[in-house]
Amino acid sequence: MDIKKEIAEMIGDPSLVSDIEFEVSNIIVYTKNKNFLVNNLDIIKPIVNTKKKRIEVRLDPSLLMDEKEAEKEIEKIVPKSAEIKQIWFERDRSIATLEVMRPEMISKGMDVAKEIKDKTGWSIATLRYPLIKSDIVRAIREMLFSNADFRKKLMNSIGEKIYNSKFDVNDKYWVRMSALGGFRQVGRSAILIQTPISSVLVDAGIDVSNSRDPVPRIDAPEFDISKLDAVVITHSHLDHCGFLPVLYKYGYKGPVFSTAPTRDVMTLLHLDYLSLTDKTNEKQLFNIDNIKEMLKYSIVLNPNEVTDVTPDVRVTLHNSGHILGAMMVHLNVGNGFHNILYTGDFKYADSKTLNKADNTFDRVETLIMESTYGGDDDKQPSREEAENFFFDIVKKTIDKGGKVLVPVLGVGRAQEIMLMAEEWTRYGFLQDVPVIVDGMLWDVTAIYTVYPEFMNAETKRRIIEYNNSPFMSKIFKHVVSEEERQKVLSGGPAIILATSGMLNGGPSVYYFANLCEDDRNAVVLVSYQGNGTLGRALQEGAKEVSIDLNGSLRHFNVNLPVYSIQGFSGHSDRKELERYLKDIKPKPRRLVLDHGEESKIIALMKYARTNEHIETVAPKILDALRLR
Ligand SMILES: [Zn+2]
Repeated sequence: MDIKKEIAEMIGDPSLVSDIEFEVSNIIVYTKNKNFLVNNLDIIKPIVNTKKKRIEVRLDPSLLMDEKEAEKEIEKIVPKSAEIKQIWFERDRSIATLEVMRPEMISKGMDVAKEIKDKTGWSIATLRYPLIKSDIVRAIREMLFSNADFRKKLMNSIGEKIYNSKFDVNDKYWVRMSALGGFRQVGRSAILIQTPISSVLVDAGIDVSNSRDPVPRIDAPEFDISKLDAVVITHSHLDHCGFLPVLYKYGYKGPVFSTAPTRDVMTLLHLDYLSLTDKTNEKQLFNIDNIKEMLKYSIVLNPNEVTDVTPDVRVTLHNSGHILGAMMVHLNVGNGFHNILYTGDFKYADSKTLNKADNTFDRVETLIMESTYGGDDDKQPSREEAENFFFDIVKKTIDKGGKVLVPVLGVGRAQEIMLMAEEWTRYGFLQDVPVIVDGMLWDVTAIYTVYPEFMNAETKRRIIEYNNSPFMSKIFKHVVSEEERQKVLSGGPAIILATSGMLNGGPSVYYFANLCEDDRNAVVLVSYQGNGTLGRALQEGAKEVSIDLNGSLRHFNVNLPVYSIQGFSGHSDRKELERYLKDIKPKPRRLVLDHGEESKIIALMKYARTNEHIETVAPKILDALRLR
């Protein structure tokens, strides 16, 4: 029977239900009965328990209080400490979204939501307002709400498809995966998961370091963009999401699922890609309209919530510990027929901002695991050792009156280092040494202030309970202009964080050129340095370098010390990968390795076969695998 009819029957009294709608796999019951709107737990809870679906009761839009009046009423009910900044009303969904400084002041008492519902009829949702001004968060939210009608229809139609398609898990049913990108290589991650009725793409990355072959192999015969049902993105690094706007350019008209921080940071990085390629006149893979189209189709998932994304594929996101909002993707295919865990990039150790990756799942038969540091020698020092080493460098340099330049990627390590410096200052190990946060790093940090829920317990508690965000420390100085950079260079000791991480462009190169001839300064490389980059040359001991500054090539002597620190990586090192294979519960039957150079994948494959006795494969790009 039709699930809408079933639910109506389970509710019993037909006068209680005016309509039932799907929002993806959530079921929304609209009612004209105000009493049922606020007191429905006894009736709804047993249905939720049998159907194992999220069910929400909202007031029929025809009975909602007028928006202007409702706004006044809501402002009276919501505690002042929550500080309302804006309210968005979506009448067709009966939802008022409150953008507030402190959502926890509302969610603490369920009474607030109930009282608002009782007085105005509106159901509420909350969004956190950025502590640091963020144009990108503003633009995304405005974009989403101005397309509310489109998005409602999208969610309804995905739901209709999920609930109205029949499928049989019989002896003809199958599950396959195709390696479209990121296999035996790092870059352009893309995995196609297919069943007789669904096609789901997990990650859609580009390889920014390979301009000749940057995109996933969507020319694979099994890939048909018109039959693609859903895309799921693990995290916001371009090698996992840079191809997404291209899918919309090629006519994809389906949903893209991710966490909210991933959606926001990836949009920022897509825009950054456009402005960087504008400057270098590189051929652009997508344009701004494609990014906007992608946002219209974006649907946010919360970690640990089970959501059907197609009739026979159920997705749950699990913390991966890599960067803010980064998730492992668990796919339950064919109602438990086969369970896949795709790790994406993951860190199996705690960091300053994040908890280590989850290791316990209901069921996992196939584990697809990243292998970036899977080589036999890829053992990094512990976080603690790395942090102590870094502190010593900083201290020594500052005492000499020098500056410490740390070239970083936009997301992850920069914020980790910010929190380290904040802690050193708070405990008095450093006295008011400014931390210069250059350019877009600040924009990413602003997004970090919107999502403390995604951080580790300690940082989360500081922000949510004590309203004391470490990112608001006075030591952080935002720098954007040439003039401000000059001021930093002529000023006293400082820690300077700037992109790019490999010194192959961006403000980090400018700082380096101005600092490298003075031996009181230091440069600390904390990320992987690709072949042919200035960072790699420095690691290899270059004493003279040529740097392109605004189009003119200039020569510099490298007099400052160059340090490399491995332990801050957002990836698991070989020891952590080994430990993950030991710890993961339940133990998978098959291991598929991706996201690593060929030699590292082969080394890790040997280890897993010999020591974990697990069937291990390392597909090549365009290989397809029947999982069951
Ligand atoms: Zn990554």
